Amino acid sequence: MTIANANTGKEGFLNLPDNAEERIAGHVRGILEALGEDPGREGLLETPQRAARMFLDVFSGLYEDPARHLEKQFSSDGHSGLVIVRDIPFRSTCEHHLLPVVGKADVAYLPDGGRLTGLSKLARVVEGYARRPQLQERLTDQVAEAIWRVLHPKAVLVVMRAEHMCMTVRGVKAPGAETVTSRAMGQWADDAAARAEVMALMRAG
Ligand SMILES: [Zn+2]
Repeated sequence: MTIANANTGKEGFLNLPDNAEERIAGHVRGILEALGEDPGREGLLETPQRAARMFLDVFSGLYEDPARHLEKQFSSDGHSGLVIVRDIPFRSTCEHHLLPVVGKADVAYLPDGGRLTGLSKLARVVEGYARRPQLQERLTDQVAEAIWRVLHPKAVLVVMRAEHMCMTVRGVKAPGAETVTSRAMGQWADDAAARAEVMALMRAG
């Protein structure tokens, strides 16, 4: 099976490039040097390698197709109501500044009579797309579209709330500011009242 990488549009699964860890470590060393630091001093000796492993970890979602988690499906046993998983914690990386984005996702879908996916699979999809250089808007779209494409539900709604460290530690310095994005598909894209009802359930105490 080939599938387009949603971040690049390229067909096929991307593989980790050769010598990625060594190459990233070399560039991190270069950044430290460019800053006038001494990469040879004790505290920084292991930093390039450690930072390289960190980058490979937080961007590991580039080398998988997160939608595949949804292929594990089971019969709904007559359940035709909506499914909501809320407060799924996620960590991502802002692609403009390479700084962390930390937030929570609420994911809801209305099954089309037949199939459900495991609740933990929805969290895996969020995590897979989050582990890429991201924009919160695109991350929200990618999660909604994967559920739409693979589960064929009647409706999908994804709401993400996150704090962007690039707003907290640089520029405008607005700690605590929360960015909220949402994407509705199917019935909930057209029906504002139904969408509001789902959002109220997402936020109910
Ligand atoms: Zn940013």
